[in-house]
Amino acid sequence: MADSNLPRNVRGLGDQETFRFSCHPGVPCFTECCRQLDLALSPYDVLRLRRGLGITAAEFLDRYTVVEKGEEDFFPTVFLAMIDDGRAACPFVTDNGCSVYRDRPGACRTYPVGRGAYLDANARPAELFVLLSEPHCRGFEAGPEISVEDWVDDQELAIYNEFNDLLMPLLHHQRIKEGFRPDDRQQARFLDVLYNLDDFSRESSPAKEIDDPELLKSAIRLLKDELFS
Ligand code: SF4
Ligand code: SF4
Repeated sequence: MADSNLPRNVRGLGDQETFRFSCHPGVPCFTECCRQLDLALSPYDVLRLRRGLGITAAEFLDRYTVVEKGEEDFFPTVFLAMIDDGRAACPFVTDNGCSVYRDRPGACRTYPVGRGAYLDANARPAELFVLLSEPHCRGFEAGPEISVEDWVDDQELAIYNEFNDLLMPLLHHQRIKEGFRPDDRQQARFLDVLYNLDDFSRESSPAKEIDDPELLKSAIRLLKDELFS
């Protein structure tokens, strides 16, 4: 893959290429990267985190997130709120590592691999991968050689990537390219439907027990229909 357009610490990774990496409590930088983050949470990240913490989606959003929308953004972004400890630490970092490791966000799983997803000429999801080498990260100094495919397996990223791909036709809908911009009510609905699944569950299937991932898939479909049909 040609790397000429990539920043210096980023290089393209071919399907069969391997890289050396290991992050564990023995690295001198352990947990240093869990601070001062702009960590955008996907709807699936929120689903996993609030379920792992045993709280409602509304409680999670209230306690752990901040919502922002830049002038250039079409939809609001839900960020994990860093705590005010002088180092802007993630609320889940401890001296022993990540306290929500089993349900940590996709962004925490994927580093040092970056995944770019896009729709190909036939509007089918396609992907490419890069390796990000942050200068402060000592994880590249040791560890086994691993391929992208094995990294995706090792970090249990497939389900996170699946939900990112499901969102793509909504976030990059042709109507947006043609100038559609969601109004305030539609932006609020975006947050309610995709991120507050407890409320969506009551709205969509009050009598039925549907597991959370299936509910999120319904929510994505419904929002796409509401916005673009
Ligand atoms: S969720 Fe866990 S891995 Fe991610 S930044 Fe916070 S402590 Fe670090
Ligand atoms: S900086 Fe790199 S090696 Fe250090 S804790 Fe973070 S991911 Fe692991």
